[in-house]
Amino acid sequence: MSNTLLEISHLTKHFRSYWTFQKMPAVNDISLTVNEGEAFGFLGHNGAGKTTTMKCVVGLLKQNSGKILYKGKSLEDHKLRAEIGYLPELPYFYDHLSVWETCHLFARLYGISEKERTGRVEEVLTRIKLIDRKHQRVRELSKGLQQRLGMASAILNKPKLLLLDEPFSGLDPIGRKEFRDLLFELKASGATIFLSTHVLSDIEDICERVSIMAKGKMEKTLTLKELPGLFGTNFELSLLVPEKDHFVLESLNNLSSNLSLRDGPQGKTAVLGFHEQQKAQDALHWAGEQNLVVESYQRVIPRLEEVFLEVTKQAEKGR
Ligand code: ATP
Repeated sequence: MSNTLLEISHLTKHFRSYWTFQKMPAVNDISLTVNEGEAFGFLGHNGAGKTTTMKCVVGLLKQNSGKILYKGKSLEDHKLRAEIGYLPELPYFYDHLSVWETCHLFARLYGISEKERTGRVEEVLTRIKLIDRKHQRVRELSKGLQQRLGMASAILNKPKLLLLDEPFSGLDPIGRKEFRDLLFELKASGATIFLSTHVLSDIEDICERVSIMAKGKMEKTLTLKELPGLFGTNFELSLLVPEKDHFVLESLNNLSSNLSLRDGPQGKTAVLGFHEQQKAQDALHWAGEQNLVVESYQRVIPRLEEVFLEVTKQAEKGR
């Protein structure tokens, strides 16, 4: 049985236009749950409402309606909030403070005791590879190094729930790998991760479940294990076909409704897609009888990107 750690129900948040004071919906009646110990991906196009949702969770924005419960309780309780770590999309720091002072400030805000503070700051800065820059002012740090400082401040309190809004932004490939390793490590130690990123391959690697938002609405929640079988083709057969052989082309059309022809180095290639394995095997059998060259026969697992694009497209159509 999975334990719900975070429960968002019927969350709605709108802003008001600065000029007309008209309502501009940002998040429209969304509901989701995040289970203890899981890594949950939070996806959506630019402006879909992800940051607004996260800000409502951590209390930086007040929702217009709906409930947010952590461990079944409201997050008004400061002690509960101290169990949460948050890396905003654009971390904000007092740029005249040093890296060391910034972490100490966050540690105090989290309520980490004076006795433990120095040890914990030292530990986190070492882990995040900022210890050599502890005396540097924030304003002297590059974008990627500020992102590291943002992550350091988000995990100082050993959070039970870690909300990350575009954590990989500004990082070089080494930094990105290090952050991913850190997320795996935090997950292994029992932390729950709520991750928003446009890098879908990272979501595929790290998360067990994802939700996809579009235009402020929740469109789909799925486990990544469900990916095979969702949308599109599941089996793909590529055959080398003789040019202008009407019999073969017509037969291929009858075998699969998902047929495409492309020019390859060896001539025309027909690519046939199938939902059902039996139909794919029948086509393979037929190709053998016709002495057609089989270039490949494989199971195709849709990538999260395809699902994301499809869900977003459907949401566009539906409105
Ligand atoms: P991105 O992937 O670009 O970060 P997002 O999914 O995080 O996008 P939000 O930042 O939550 O999207 O924005 C949702 C909607 O709310 C957008 O239309 C945005 O313009 C609007 N919005 C966000 N913050 C404010 C604000 N302070 N005042 C007015 N509108 C806002």
